[in-house]
Amino acid sequence: MYLPAEKTKKLIPYQPIQGEYRVRLDANESFLLPTEEDRIAMASAAANVAFNRYPDPMAAGLCADFAELYGISPEYVTAGNGSDEIISIIYYALLEKGEKVLTLTPDFSMYAFYSSIAETECISLSKGEDMAVDVDLVLDTIKKEKIRMVIFSNPCNPTSLGLAADDVRRLITGTDALVVVDEAYMDFWDQSLIKEAHEYQNLVLLRTCSKALGLAALRVGFAVANKTLTRILKAAKSPYNVNAVSQEMARVVLKNPLYRTVYTEILITSRNMLIDGLRRLESQRLIEKVYESRTNFAFIKLQDSEEVFKFLFDNGIIVRNIGKNHLRITAGREEENKEVISAIAACLCKKRGVDCYEDRCLFAKNQGN
Ligand SMILES: *Cc1c(COP(=O)(O)O)cnc(C)c1O
Repeated sequence: MYLPAEKTKKLIPYQPIQGEYRVRLDANESFLLPTEEDRIAMASAAANVAFNRYPDPMAAGLCADFAELYGISPEYVTAGNGSDEIISIIYYALLEKGEKVLTLTPDFSMYAFYSSIAETECISLSKGEDMAVDVDLVLDTIKKEKIRMVIFSNPCNPTSLGLAADDVRRLITGTDALVVVDEAYMDFWDQSLIKEAHEYQNLVLLRTCSKALGLAALRVGFAVANKTLTRILKAAKSPYNVNAVSQEMARVVLKNPLYRTVYTEILITSRNMLIDGLRRLESQRLIEKVYESRTNFAFIKLQDSEEVFKFLFDNGIIVRNIGKNHLRITAGREEENKEVISAIAACLCKKRGVDCYEDRCLFAKNQGN
């Protein structure tokens, strides 16, 4: 009788919240579609794909357009079926079974997930109350625990905080362990190491088209690393990992600088608006803390996170419940931001029996405030 492998026997499929909700602020997606002109160009690019042929296995054109947009050389770039796929390739191509991986929690849940399938040992270093990354402590832990790879997101999902480029450099040069820096949100901040990534012997940097560039549906991500690491990633990935339709459609968007300028500014403006609204709740002591965001989402601490989450859910607003009294809220359209802020205010004001001061409180009436 066949018995499934121990390591995957109890795994359950990744299940994001599904279904129709009025306001979706749970997945850190962009709320903007590519321009109509570009969507037409994307449709035409897709229509011209040689469907009977396999795609370019190295996605050379896609990598070249990505490299051009970010001002780097394409020889350091590997394309993946989302950066998620690249994370899994890193685990099985660059690590041996039983080797130790360090994660800094809370961080992107996929790091620990792939670790278990790759049969590496995942060690997690908990961040303190301020959620900051302590580079010295990370370096000490790497030494003490004989860590082979450290992986973290910068800026961080879910904490929304960023680690300055100089601190990341100090981490990379302070160890021989492989350092994987997931810059999924770096389009929203200016501390990227992408231009110098190839100069380090032990760095793999990850980028994605899923966040600022607004192409989550296409599943396109990239690794940037020196030639040796790039060769290994390209040799270890499955041959046709990025399908031809995604390659061609993403190229249309990567060729247009608008998304990294005007579009990204729109998302940052929305983020600032969301953060300002949440800070009002913080100053009223309705929520405990709003973390400084370098991303397109807000990370907040509040006593009543479960209750607020449920209240939002019941009102058709989906955010991410991170646990331990923290919520993560993606910046959305102006109306969506206003709605989530006033809903949180309404929920907490009612609970505390104080008047809801949010003048646009859409929920005050329903909730009998
Ligand atoms: C969203 C996210 C990704 C996802 O990347 P894909 O390219 O869509 O697979 C990777 N890392 C972090 C930290 C993210 O938040």
